[in-house]
Amino acid sequence: MTCLVAGDCVLMRPSDSAKPSYVARVETIEGDSRGANVRVHVRWYYRPEESIGGRRQFHGSKELFLSDHYDVQSADTIEGKCTVHTFKGYTKLDAVGNDDFFCRFEYNSSTGSFNPDRVAVYCKCEMPYNPDDLMVQCEGCADWFHPTCIDMTPEEARKIDHFYCQNCSSGDKKKLQNSHAMSRKTTDTKVTTLCWVKTEISILS
Ligand SMILES: [Zn+2]
Ligand SMILES: [Zn+2]
Repeated sequence: MTCLVAGDCVLMRPSDSAKPSYVARVETIEGDSRGANVRVHVRWYYRPEESIGGRRQFHGSKELFLSDHYDVQSADTIEGKCTVHTFKGYTKLDAVGNDDFFCRFEYNSSTGSFNPDRVAVYCKCEMPYNPDDLMVQCEGCADWFHPTCIDMTPEEARKIDHFYCQNCSSGDKKKLQNSHAMSRKTTDTKVTTLCWVKTEISILS
């Protein structure tokens, strides 16, 4: 292991080799004076499927939650470093490598709650943004839409230059709405509360 420092994110070998590597953030590193028996204090990242609410449609394939679950592990289980990006940083990556992840929520592993517990939603389906999904932005209201929710194929959505949603393209108030769009965008973001724990459990049982 080369140059591991506190704050690094690492992939750790799971006991069950069929599972994907665990992801953790290194808090502190301890070893004896010769650098042997190195142990790392880590804070685990959870994958959505490891959370009480499970994986939801809006969770990205590389999404992780920074948990409140701390642990001490032998440094031998570290497979290598990885990068956990902010949500914004992740959406700006030109290419997503195997070792790229992102985190937008902290997760309380005993209550199943998230911080922040509210997240902006988009589209007619009012879903939080999944960075893996293609979306098109309306030039009128600046909301984002899934191609399938507006009867468009992904191919059509990729080719489209100017898109106006149903609300913005109906009637002849289009110009007026356009001029209001910019001020509306920052003040009127729809949000949803992340409190699905109870409903998810009732679905599963
Ligand atoms: Zn949608
Ligand atoms: Zn619109």
